[in-house]
Formats: sequence, C-alpha cells, structure tokens
Amino acid sequence: MMTAYNFSAGPAKLPEEVMLQAQNEFVDWNGQHSSVMEISHRSKAFLRVAEEAESDFRDLLTIPANYKVLFMHGGGRGQFAAVPLNLSAPEQCSTHIVTGSWSKGAVAESDKYNNAVVIAEATIKDGLKYVEPVKSDLQPDAAYCHFCPNETVDGIAFDWLPQVGSVPLVADMSSTILSQPLDIDKYGLIYAGAQKNIGPSGLSVVIVRDDLLGKAQAITPSFLDYSLQSQNDSMYNTPPTYSWYLAGLVFKWLKDKGGVNAIAAINDQKSALLYEAIDSSDFYNNPVHPDNRSKMNVPFTLANGELDSVFLEQAESAGLQALKGHRSVGGMRASIYNAMPLSGVQALVAFMKEFERKFG
Ligand code: PMP
Repeated sequence: MMTAYNFSAGPAKLPEEVMLQAQNEFVDWNGQHSSVMEISHRSKAFLRVAEEAESDFRDLLTIPANYKVLFMHGGGRGQFAAVPLNLSAPEQCSTHIVTGSWSKGAVAESDKYNNAVVIAEATIKDGLKYVEPVKSDLQPDAAYCHFCPNETVDGIAFDWLPQVGSVPLVADMSSTILSQPLDIDKYGLIYAGAQKNIGPSGLSVVIVRDDLLGKAQAITPSFLDYSLQSQNDSMYNTPPTYSWYLAGLVFKWLKDKGGVNAIAAINDQKSALLYEAIDSSDFYNNPVHPDNRSKMNVPFTLANGELDSVFLEQAESAGLQALKGHRSVGGMRASIYNAMPLSGVQALVAFMKEFERKFG
C-alpha cells in the first residue's frame, strides 16, 4: 500500500498507533465482549477511562488544581455560545481580538448573549498579514477577553498574551492545544474542539478557572452550563463516550512521545522545513508575516494560480491528501498537527520541489 499523508485541517489525522489500538479493541474492549461505546458512561470501567483521560490531560498541560477540566458536546462553535452564556451577564461586555475567521465567528455568537466589542484586529505589515501585540485598557470591566492564538483557516498565530489588565483571558485553542507547553494560570478559560490534536469531532475540552464558575445566565442550556457539568464530572447528560475514550488514547500516545515539550520540538522542525521550502522559492508564497506564522496550519499559494488544480491532483496521486485551502481563502493549506510525522512534511517538501522543477 502506498504511504499516504493526510493534511486535513480537521477532522484531522489521528496518530496511527492510536487508530490501530482502537481498531484492535473496537468490538471487544477490555475483555468486556462489548465496545467501549456500548457500555454505560456510569459503569466502573468507563469511569476509569474518563478519569484517566482527564488526569493524563492535566499532566500533559500541568493544569493547576484550581482549574476544572470539562469534556463537553458541541465542538468549537458550541463554546462560542457556552463562553458568553457562562461567563457574562447579558448587559456585560466581552472584548475580542479578531485575527481570522474563527475569532470573528466567536464575536457574532457572543454578541447574542452579551455586548461583544472588538478591541484589536489583524493588520497588514510589509504586505503580509500581521497581528500587533495587544495592550489595551479599553473596557476594563469586560467579563473576559476572547482571542484565538492559532487561526486554522488563515494560518495566523501569535504567542504573546493580550495585556488587558485584570480582564480574564479566554482562548480558543481548537487548532493548537497540546502542540506546545502553556502557562495555564495566565488564562481564565481555554477551550478546544477536539478534531485536530485531541480526537474525533463533536467533543470539546474546556479548562476553566474555578472562580469563573457559577455565573451562567438563566437561559443557558443545562448541558452547556459549566457549573452543572463540573458538579456532574461532565456527565450531566450522556457524554460523547467514544470520543472521550479516543482522546484518552491520544493523551497516552503523547505522553509516550515525551509530552508537549517533545512534540513542540518536532512541530518546530516540521513547520521550519515547510516555511523554508516556501521562502526559498518564488514559485510558492505564504501571505503571513514571519512573526505570526502558524506551526499547525500552513497556507500557501502558487505564483500561477492556474496551476492550483494540477498541484492538488498530482499531490493526491502522490499520496499527499487534503491540501486544498479553505474555500474562503483558496490556494493550498497543509495542516501539520501533532499526529503528522516529520516524514509527511519531508514528502510534501520533496513533492513541492519536484512540482516546481516541472512547472516553474
Ligand atoms: N475554532 C477554531 C480555531 C477552529 O479551527 C474551528 C473548526 N475548525 C472551530 C472553532 C469550530 O469548531 P466546530 O466545527 O467543532 O464547531
């Protein structure tokens, strides 16, 4: 079988070892003669899966004891609604840094439940998309400041934290969580849709400082209520058990790999290799300022856009899958999350060089 590499932005490739283990125990898990998805979420066996997943996740990110970890339904957009509903009153304001399509989407959803105010936006510097570090004293009484440190569609990232006084920071880390170490205690809340670095889509993981609990608006749907979910160990309603189990396998895989520090070094190597290939040629271009280049999602265009479809077809035939850019921006995008091995990026770079030799 030809080796194939899947560069999908999400749902994205999961670690091969995890998929094989899941396959191996799909029908008969843990000697139960049932799949893990066929047993009660309240059974002892599943509770162990749930607890181990949480404890491995806490270890990986060194999550302090005053933060709750919730395994919830509804992916990233579910949290676009859950955050304003849980952290703010309808008349309160939330502040937002808009650097791409997902942080923009969060503003629109938030504005249904509070007063969402944009305090900073991505700009252009030297002809490239750029995000100026944010230091703002606007809206000092805001319930929280929301940002997305890695914009999946646009390939824009930043590693500084917004300086907004005592306003709690809320980060959408859907496409960057577990790719590098974090200082959790700098944040009020972090959330992530699972389908990139965690597991299957539909699940979302929330890390929330416990003093932010207990403020949900009366209209908050109960299953999105952080306090209620926290009191019920994320089992107020039936959780997405199979996704939770798979997330647990991914966390163990990452621990075996040496954790987030070790994977961050590999992620640095992979992204540097790909950007180097783009920068060393006039045939390829990345539209993002070097300070803000994503290590997870690398968009690039061809100097001659008419070759896009040929590039994608030939890449697909060479086993390099899902490189088409998001429909809103076009071009190409290589998503290189934790599960993408260095060999995948090396294969992509070799293909790009060969394609340029043929068509450049
Ligand atoms: N935020 C970010 C950064 C994302 O990349 C995505 C999905 N790709 C979302 C939010 C929305 O997630 P979902 O489709 O699970 O609602």
